[in-house]
Amino acid sequence: MEYIKSKIRDVYDFPKKGIVFKDLTTVFKDPRALHIIGWDLAQLYREKGVTKVVGIESRGFVFGSILAFELGAGFVPARKPGKLPADTVSATFDKEYGKDTIEMHRDAITEDDVVVIHDDVLATGGTMAAAYELVKSMNPKKIYVNFIIELGQLGGRANLPSEAEVTSLIVTND
Ligand code: AMP
Repeated sequence: MEYIKSKIRDVYDFPKKGIVFKDLTTVFKDPRALHIIGWDLAQLYREKGVTKVVGIESRGFVFGSILAFELGAGFVPARKPGKLPADTVSATFDKEYGKDTIEMHRDAITEDDVVVIHDDVLATGGTMAAAYELVKSMNPKKIYVNFIIELGQLGGRANLPSEAEVTSLIVTND
């Protein structure tokens, strides 16, 4: 994990003053980091019967897709408003820097699914709490929650439903 940590770029005051943005494009572009994370994520969920991985737009699409591929599961995008063409469900939430809405196709998940919801970074937890609510409204058998990086100092985990099984590959407190 030290190798992965060394590839994360901290960008100060982006997109607003006071935010330290964890830039993962420097992880995505590194073949070794991409391989290690893809493998480590898959190991976490291999024996869990996962049938769908939900990736949150847009940085959650990268490892969400890799994880789905590795597990032999389907991939489902949770997107910004107005991007999905068919009938959607939506939820609005507060972010570390502003308000936002996410949408999913209403038929994306069925009651037979075992789901991992993946995003790159857990900050305040607002985005994931909204995604969790959307997935839960479709009544899957089980929901797992996954991040590459959890910003521990923001306490976002406390804003996720208490029943959520949350795993983060890296927890930072800086
Ligand atoms: P939140 O809803 O506050 O947990 O924010 C999580 C979402 O915003 C994720 O999709 C992240 O990609 C992005 N995000 C929020 N804060 C940061 C940060 N400090 N560095 C990188 N991404 C962030």
